Amino acid sequence: MKLVDYVYLKRRLIEELESKLSEESKRKAREDHHSKRPPRPCGMTVHTGIGCSLCCVYCYIYDMGFPRTVTPYPLTGLEMLYALALNPYFAPGRGGTMIAMGAVSEPFLPETKSRTLEYIKMFGIIKNPTQISTKMTINDEDIEEIRKNCHHISFLVTIIALRDYKKLEPLAPDPHERFDTCRRLINKNIHVSLFMRPIIPGFTDRDAEEILSIAKSVGVRTVVLGTLRVTKRIFMNLLKVGVDLSRRVKKLSDKEQYPIIGHDLKRNIARIAEKLGLRVYEAACGANIEAAGLGCVACNWGPCGYPDKIPNVDERDVAELCIELGFKVSKIDVKDNVITVEVESGPRLDILEKWLKELTRRRVIVRRA
Ligand code: SF4
Ligand code: SF4
Repeated sequence: MKLVDYVYLKRRLIEELESKLSEESKRKAREDHHSKRPPRPCGMTVHTGIGCSLCCVYCYIYDMGFPRTVTPYPLTGLEMLYALALNPYFAPGRGGTMIAMGAVSEPFLPETKSRTLEYIKMFGIIKNPTQISTKMTINDEDIEEIRKNCHHISFLVTIIALRDYKKLEPLAPDPHERFDTCRRLINKNIHVSLFMRPIIPGFTDRDAEEILSIAKSVGVRTVVLGTLRVTKRIFMNLLKVGVDLSRRVKKLSDKEQYPIIGHDLKRNIARIAEKLGLRVYEAACGANIEAAGLGCVACNWGPCGYPDKIPNVDERDVAELCIELGFKVSKIDVKDNVITVEVESGPRLDILEKWLKELTRRRVIVRRA
């Protein structure tokens, strides 16, 4: 597929959805933030619910204003698809924008599960690389539905502690149940990565070897590691359960989340994982790309996935895409996995940058001529 074909695909998708949706549904989708905001580095985050009732002590969503109760996200599957199709940053299709669910709510709570399954089905139709993170137990019936509707999905199953997990995740299922979910997903050929994020000093590092060994024994082959980010509230919550981060934090605020100093912990856990023969990804999108059977070298953490599957592109492909997206460009350079574009006129430069990054899976520099 040429780069410009993604623009045509997007237009067809919008047209098709407009013929199916009522005026009220179209209005809801147009006004929703999924139709406007840019993707994050891990891809386009899609909310399956509002709030979360699991109350993990390290969770940042409560500092972002989300409640401790949960309601399913108000858009139906088709409305969500339409909102994404309208989003100027979003490219539909197998090689299009990565999608990530589970950033601000648990997608498999009883209240959110149906909505989540509805969204998964939609993303299976448009085939975008799709990822979901969870710590819930998923039953066989739901796993079968997911396999049928979106077999390329990337699951991230969070396990960051074994012995004292209840101190950190008082209301989440036992980690051994989560390992069992990993095993049953893998048995259905669904890509599963162990999600060791956030790494909690004194908990995750202490249990890391055991967590990684059990994950391997149930068939997991990849692990995504991530450093803890804290606000004042999270800092105090963790102190109450015996995690003193005073020597690991440089800055603390009420609302802003700051990463702790945790490179040493991450490095040590990565070493253990590699010794066990597991592939380590520094960012969740690496696992998403791998599950989708694609490759990416768009940042220093790459190459991720299958480097031989990075799409072939030349200056002409990029020029066609720029024109179709409404940009007038004076210079295009595709060299050594880096694409540089100089723009004379057109919409916001970050729109072009995101499209090029997602479709070419390379580093992209877009600047005014
Ligand atoms: S499950 Fe996720 S969203 Fe819910 S409280 Fe725990 S970390 Fe936060
Ligand atoms: S190279 Fe890997 S970590 Fe970087 S953007 Fe691509 S998939 Fe993500």
